[in-house]
Amino acid sequence: MSYVRGLKCRECGQNYPEKGVHVCETCFGPLEVQYDYAAMRGKVTRESIEAGPRNLWRYRDLLPIHGEPKSGLHSGLTPLKRARNLEKVLGVRELYIKDDAANYPTWSYKERVVSVAITKAIELGYDTVGCASTGNLANSVAAHAAEAGLRAFVMIPHDLEQGKVLGSLIFNPTMVRIQGNYDDVNRLCSEIADKYRWAIVNVNLRPFYTEGAKTFGFEIAEQMGWQLPKHTVCPTAGGTILPKIYKGYRELIDLGIVADNQPRIYSAQAAGCNPVVEAIRAGRDLIKPQKPKTIAKSIAIGNPADGFYVVQAVKESGGWGEDATDTEIVDAIKLLARTEGTWTEPAGGTTLAATIKLIESGRIPRDESICVCITGNGLKTVEVVVDQLEPPASIPPSLEAFDALMAGRESVDPAPASV
Ligand SMILES: *Cc1c(COP(=O)(O)O)cnc(C)c1O
Ligand SMILES: [Zn+2]
Repeated sequence: MSYVRGLKCRECGQNYPEKGVHVCETCFGPLEVQYDYAAMRGKVTRESIEAGPRNLWRYRDLLPIHGEPKSGLHSGLTPLKRARNLEKVLGVRELYIKDDAANYPTWSYKERVVSVAITKAIELGYDTVGCASTGNLANSVAAHAAEAGLRAFVMIPHDLEQGKVLGSLIFNPTMVRIQGNYDDVNRLCSEIADKYRWAIVNVNLRPFYTEGAKTFGFEIAEQMGWQLPKHTVCPTAGGTILPKIYKGYRELIDLGIVADNQPRIYSAQAAGCNPVVEAIRAGRDLIKPQKPKTIAKSIAIGNPADGFYVVQAVKESGGWGEDATDTEIVDAIKLLARTEGTWTEPAGGTTLAATIKLIESGRIPRDESICVCITGNGLKTVEVVVDQLEPPASIPPSLEAFDALMAGRESVDPAPASV
């Protein structure tokens, strides 16, 4: 059973049927999926969700598809970890890591949006999909398209990390590196979407695509035992995931599935690309575009499509925004790895670094529950740590050599338990 009731312009309210359109013909406002929430009451419940499959489609009643899921049957349901070691280091009472570095098959939060978009593309009759990407989206589109038997065109800026480039090429899409930044790539993809009959997942399928990001929030709630964290810190690139986590929380509250604890949501950006955080600090609704300069390439979007809605969600919830320098980002990546055994990419480092600053400034109280959204995997961005870690010792295969090494190290190594 589907509760979807078409698309609607977020600005002027005009209704549209479900198809590959993303902006309103009259006012150019973004379109959003409409649901019949009244019909969900009493039908979409904790029990109905818990009876679903062990992947992100357990939330399908709140997603914009009609038939069976066609993609992402092994995506989602990533770990939510209580981070007890980090709690001690940061001096906070209750801290969680929602870890999409472990999201199958390409290790980022993008599996969520792509699973929905590819299913929708097939439902709408497309045989070709594409995307404008900072790397992770291209990886995910290429993998899901390969599995679904669709043609894929993925467009990326020319200067991405090797792990992100190979992480798409292995799935055999057509990849094009654009000689510009992400905003140039995105502009080109809008023109391509107008001209070619392709499903560009984050352009003309954007209303459906973005809904998939709600599952990040649904999982946090379910995995906390149907409760919401009081504070959720989330990275912002184009501005999809943050407002959709918040929308997911509000849907669960409105359906009576979780109690309303007035959850607050916070945007994390790199200092070298912080248009949304800058607007939040300045008390402005409109985003001033920037030219990105940061190692956090997956979130380096200077002109975020949904930046306005990030500011709205942050304000409505009573949250805030914080940024992190490249040095703080790398330090946070290393801190998360050595305390919690989770290796994230710079987007996750940004989020943890911003969380730390929000705690230290008193914006997030130390005695309330906090969830840090980890959205991508460190194995794809080895460049950012390769010069930051001490190379291992190299010794002959003899116990004498090992003993000598240990004798030299005893005095310098900290005890393993200290963090
Ligand atoms: C895409 C991405 C984000 C967030 O992007 P939004 O466009 O704001 O949803 C965050 N982290 C990683 C690793 C990403 O790839
Ligand atoms: Zn409109």
